[in-house]
Amino acid sequence: MYVKEYDENNIFAKILRGEIPCDKIYEDESVLAFRDISPKYQTHVLVIPRGRYVSFDDFAENAGSRGIGMFFHRVGMIAQKLGLAEGGYRVVTNIGENGGQEVPHFHMHILGGEKLRGL
Ligand code: 5GP
Repeated sequence: MYVKEYDENNIFAKILRGEIPCDKIYEDESVLAFRDISPKYQTHVLVIPRGRYVSFDDFAENAGSRGIGMFFHRVGMIAQKLGLAEGGYRVVTNIGENGGQEVPHFHMHILGGEKLRGL
C-alpha cells in the first residue's frame, strides 16, 4: 500500500524503536539490517534507513545524495558481510501497490545464498 504520509506505526518503525524484536545483522547511525521473518531464499535480509521514508521514490526524492550514497554503500557492505558478493546476489525494492510493497517504510531486500529464480 503506497501512502504519501509516513505511518509511525508501521512494523519497521516499531522495529527501529525497539518495540518489536528482529534478528539483527548490522546497524549504525543511518541503517538497520535484519533477517526477513518469512525468508524467500536461503539468505533474505532487509536493509532500512533510520529516516522516515515511505518507499524508494520518497527516499530517492528526499534523502539527498549523501543519504542515498550512504544507504547504497551499506547495502553492498552488508551483502559482503553476509558472504554473498563472490557468488552473486540480488537487491530489490518493491514500491507501492503495483510493486507489491507491504510495509510502508523504504527497505531493500538482499536475496541470495542460492541460485535465484529469474525475474
Ligand atoms: P515488501 O513486500 O514490503 O517489499 O516486503 C516486506 C517484507 O517484510 C516481507 O518480505 C515480509 O516477510 C517482511 N516482514 C513483515 N513483517 C515483518 C516483521 O515483523 N519482521 C521481519 N523481520 N520481517 C517482516
